[in-house]
Formats: sequence, structure tokens, C-alpha cells
Amino acid sequence: MARYDYLIVGSGLFGATFAYKATKAGKKCLVIDKRPQLGGNVYCKKVEGINVHTYGAHIFHTSNKEVWDFVNSLVPFNRYTNSPIANYHGELYNLPFNMNTFCQMWPDVKTPQDAEKRINEQKAEAVAALGGREPQNLEEQALCLVGKDIFQKLIKEYTEKQWGRDCKELPAFIIKRLPVRFVFDNNYFNDLYQGIPIGGYNVLIEKLLEGCDMRTDCDFFTEYMDNWREVADKLVYTGQLDEYFDFRLGRLDWRTVSFKTRIEDMPNYQGNAVINYTSHEQPYTRVIEHKHFEMFGQQVYECPKTVVSEEYSTEYKHGMEPYYPVNDARNNALAEQYKQLAAKEKDVLFGGRLAEYKYYDMAPIIERALTMEV
Ligand code: FAD
Ligand code: UDP
Repeated sequence: MARYDYLIVGSGLFGATFAYKATKAGKKCLVIDKRPQLGGNVYCKKVEGINVHTYGAHIFHTSNKEVWDFVNSLVPFNRYTNSPIANYHGELYNLPFNMNTFCQMWPDVKTPQDAEKRINEQKAEAVAALGGREPQNLEEQALCLVGKDIFQKLIKEYTEKQWGRDCKELPAFIIKRLPVRFVFDNNYFNDLYQGIPIGGYNVLIEKLLEGCDMRTDCDFFTEYMDNWREVADKLVYTGQLDEYFDFRLGRLDWRTVSFKTRIEDMPNYQGNAVINYTSHEQPYTRVIEHKHFEMFGQQVYECPKTVVSEEYSTEYKHGMEPYYPVNDARNNALAEQYKQLAAKEKDVLFGGRLAEYKYYDMAPIIERALTMEV
């Protein structure tokens, strides 16, 4: 077997960016992934000529110029700007909450002054109902931030579907920093830069992994756990933190989502990449139409079919895809105990969303991997 400087477990953005940096520094890397393909959660499957975001819609956004220049040096990014629409029983609203939303919600609202007046009246009602105490749950918090109309139509049921619980049983902090803008601006993110790699995320992953040896369908635990030191000097582990230690202190919890994907025999199904369904009428939270991430204007019609995915918030059970860490007190304390074990592992670097038990967007993951010493 060839001898490597690094065995990298996981070919997601952390593993791939680390591999890129190590290869540039003259190191030899073997990258393995237990999935049948490379790229972790940014992997896209081509269906009808459209890149389908198999593990959830991914929109790259950052204000970090170095990270933006780095990814663009590998593959240029397009001008996609995330501007989701909310559908509440057939009524359509722009998101995030901005002047477009307010004019759609209240037809007599035409100016920022009108909108502020309306929202302030409703906020005052909610604050008065609390009789001087602080908001104690998500419902009270949201009512105090945006008032009852927006809460009822755009927050309440969507949040209940997403978290599987009544808004009164959810903590207030989840919704504490809801963006409310009194300008006509539907751009969901506040970052300086955003877009999708031209040709899709797989191109980015291929560029990052150039010069490495790679194996797919290769699970670290069955193939290398006991003998990796015979293969490489160091290990970079981006799998689940608790699994590395055979769950010996207990299992960490995750949130997951599942997708129902289908092909529609028409060029343009919903006219936007993301539509949030904010009532209980539909069991799914969002519908993604993948082509709109990469096709604009006439390009949409040049591709005769389209692929859409319904997204369902699903309770995590062992064996499902671990998507979002549940950073509550129990899980944070348990992750901390595992991290103490991890710090004692010689020649092993734990990195990425699964191994650090931390929710990272893509840009911070790349930034973190680029700052690692190789
Ligand atoms: P991953 O991409 O999960 O890669 C880990 C890899 O390790 C996987 O391929 C896995 O198969 C492999 N692996 C695990 N265990 C083993 C093992 N035992 N042996 C071999 N291989 C193993 N970020 C944004 O910036 N914008 C977005 O719009 C966005 N949307 C998201 C939507 C969803 C549904 C989710 C879950 C995340 C989203 N993110 C988004 C975050 C983004 O996915 C992460 O920042 C990024 O994927 C993290 O990369 P990673 O390498 O840490 O993990
Ligand atoms: N949210 C909402 N209505 C929407 C979109 C979001 O009430 O149409 C709330 C919901 O509570 C959700 C939170 O805002 O949990 C963050 O949503 P976002 O889609 O921005 O983040 P993600 O779910 O991708 O972490």
C-alpha cells in the first residue's frame, strides 16, 4: 500500500479543502468517503441536465474576501441571489421581511413610515399582553418583534413544521434576530458575496481534490480504524465525533431533513429556487426548484424539464443523515467530553461539521480548513 502523509476521512468541504492545502504543500493525501460519491453535503447529482442538490439546497455566501477569492480562483461563481418566496394558503410574500412583504401583507401600506407604524402598533399590543415580563417562548418573542400578522402567516406554522413543536414550547432565542428591513430588498443574506459555482459544486470539489488519491464507498471504521497508522502518518477525521469513540459516552443528537424529489415535464415549475410553505396545509416546509440556482432568463426555457424537491423536517434516528447539531445543554456538555477525548488522540485532527459538532456554513468551513497547519 502507498504511504501517505494524510489519510483524510470525509470528502466534504472540510476534508477537500484540507487536502488541497496539504497537496499544495507537497504532502501526499488519501481521501476516503463512505458515500458512493465525493463532496459531502454539497454533492450534486445531474438529472435532466440540472444539478440537483441531493443533500439540501446550498447557497454560498460570505463577506470574507479571501475565501471568496479563493473559491473563485478554482471555479467562477454565478450571480445567484437568494430571495425566497413564502406561500401561505396561496398568498405569496417576499422574504426576508422587507417593504415588499409589508405591502403584500397590508395593501394600504405604501411607505416605510406606513409599515413601521403598522408593525409598531402590533408590537405594542404584544408587549402590553406580557404585562411587563420578558418574552418566555418563541411565540411571545416573535409577536414582540414583528407583531401578530407576520407571526400568524409567515412564522408560526412554518416554525412548528420545522421544529416539530408548538411555538409556545420553543425557546425565544431561535427567533431573536429576525431581519426586518424597511427597504425594498429581497436579498436573503446580508453578506457582500454570494453565488453558486458555475457548473455546480462538484467542479469545486474536483478542483480541491486534484492530485489526491481517492476512494468512495469506503467506511473508515470497517477499513482503516485499526490500521490507519500503517497507511498514513496523520489522520484528518471529519466524520461524527461520537462515532469515532464508538459512542462510549452516549450518542449526540441531530436534526435531519428528508427530500422527495421528482421531475416535472415543464421548463419552469415555480419561477424561483426556493418557496417556503408557511402553513400546515402542506406537510413539507419548502419546495426547491434546482435549475434556478444555475439557469437564468432564457436558459430556464432551453432546458425543457425541471426537477423539484419537497423538503420535510424529520426527527433524527440513528442511521439517518446527521444534518444539524442540536446544541442544547445536554448535547453541548456531551460534545465537550468527547472533545476532551479527541484532544488526547495522537496525530489525529478532528475538523468539520460532524467532528466538531458545530453548525458551520460553507465559507467558515473553508476558512477553518485553510487556516489549519499542514
Ligand atoms: P460534510 O459535507 O457532511 O462531509 C463529511 C463527509 O464525511 C461526508 O461525505 C460523509 O459521508 C463522510 N464520512 C462521515 N463518516 C465517515 C466514515 N466513517 N468513513 C468515511 N467517510 C465518512 N452552508 C451554506 O453556506 N449555505 C447553505 O445554503 C447551506 N445549506 C445547507 C443545507 C443543509 C440541509 C445542510 C445540512 C447544510 C447546509 N449548509 C449550508 C452547511 C454545509 O453543508 C456545511 O458547511 C458543509 O457541508 C460542511 O462540510 P464538512 O466537510 O464539515 O461536512
Ligand atoms: N422562519 C420562519 N418562516 C420562514 C423562514 C424561516 O418562521 O419562512 C424561521 C424559522 O423559525 C426558522 C428560522 O426562521 O427556524 C431560520 O430559518 P432559515 O431558513 O433562515 O434557516 P435554516 O432553517 O436554514 O437554519
